[in-house]
Amino acid sequence: MKLAKLLLLASLVAAACAQAPASKEIEAVYPDARALYVDLHQNPELSSHETQTAAKLASRLRGLGYEVTEHVGGTGIVAILKNDGGKNGAGSTVMLRTELDALPVEEKTGLAYASKVRAKDDAGHDVPVMHACGHDLHMASILGTAEIMAHSKDTWHGTLMLIGQPAEETISGAKGMLDDGLLTRFPKPDVAVALHVGNLLPAGMVGITPGVLNTNADSLRITIYGKGGHGSAPHTAIDPIVIAARTILALQTIASREVKPGELAVVTVGYIQAGTKNNIIPDQAELGLTVRTRKVEVRKQVLAAIARITKAEAEAAGAPRPPLIEQREATDLVYNDPALAQRLRGVLEAALGKENVVTEEAHTASEDFSYFVEQGIPGFYFSLGGADPGKFAEAKAAGTMLPSNHSSLFAPDVDPALRTGIAAEVAVLRNLLNGSAEELRKTIAAGPAAQSAP
Ligand code: ZN
Ligand code: ZN
Repeated sequence: MKLAKLLLLASLVAAACAQAPASKEIEAVYPDARALYVDLHQNPELSSHETQTAAKLASRLRGLGYEVTEHVGGTGIVAILKNDGGKNGAGSTVMLRTELDALPVEEKTGLAYASKVRAKDDAGHDVPVMHACGHDLHMASILGTAEIMAHSKDTWHGTLMLIGQPAEETISGAKGMLDDGLLTRFPKPDVAVALHVGNLLPAGMVGITPGVLNTNADSLRITIYGKGGHGSAPHTAIDPIVIAARTILALQTIASREVKPGELAVVTVGYIQAGTKNNIIPDQAELGLTVRTRKVEVRKQVLAAIARITKAEAEAAGAPRPPLIEQREATDLVYNDPALAQRLRGVLEAALGKENVVTEEAHTASEDFSYFVEQGIPGFYFSLGGADPGKFAEAKAAGTMLPSNHSSLFAPDVDPALRTGIAAEVAVLRNLLNGSAEELRKTIAAGPAAQSAP
């Protein structure tokens, strides 16, 4: 390697190292972040009902000097910290997002601070509530990060925009915030960043997926109409349960027989509801579907096939009217800007150690972070290891899996995961809030650099 190249590499590594927070910076904010985590974990709130959660986060951020606006798109919050750094406002604007919501899951982790909360869901049912997706850890991490950034203004300049987004689990919160003027009432970010904790990596590590991260998601509700009657006299009725059963099986042929092999298509019937009693043929049956795809044309093909098959099965059975197919929540896949992912990989490797940053395959979950990216904001969404490293190694050796997000047993190994989350966020923010907005846009527009052999 030539000397000039070596010097350039050394200076890049030094710059990236300088952006990693020192462990004393993390330890100074950690007790606060940890306390917020336990508080939020014990007091989870359902999607769109995150009033106490938002209020707690808002007041903590306001106390750190952030300009906080509440009730953005329902319970959403926007916290802004401008830091001119003597650069006359030439810095970039970077958004870091956390979700606020919890899930209707009964916690069975056995933790001392396990949730015992119950609440009414939107249908009026009394349900248990748990932070089973780890959004409490994301909020605690953002608080620690916010505190470090507020106390180290000599390490960055520009506009830091933290957002607390409601209702991620119902895929409505990001849209709600955008509809309420997130990008017009506040500075439009040059980059949007988010992380998600999970058990697919041990705590202490992070995972990066350049390009396509996950899948398009479409939720459908299908109502199949029949004709009710006595269970002993099926000839007088048209049984919607039998139509539903045939429909469910026929829907399985979309991915296996219609979509080109190799293209991603998932059609899952997540619930079927019909009937009340053994000897009554009900009037109707309801199916709930989730559909996951990657390509626009496959998404169209699968949704059209679902409609075609559902209608044809009803017609074949002589149903009195065609089924009702309602599109519920939908979201597009999340795309990680490849140039940004390449740049931030180096930053995270310097902050956490090269061995703690891995490339992950795209997965089939979904996320409404895509709504921000679709506004033309390049995004970087990475995963944060949450698994206890010992248990992770044991599970791997045994060929089993640790409880996933949304499980009643989901319990991240908080101390290493939260410290790593804060370290990763601070390093990423300091890197993105380092030069001018123009320089950042140029890096992104240029695309990822070709990897040259060492
Ligand atoms: Zn979730
Ligand atoms: Zn989540």
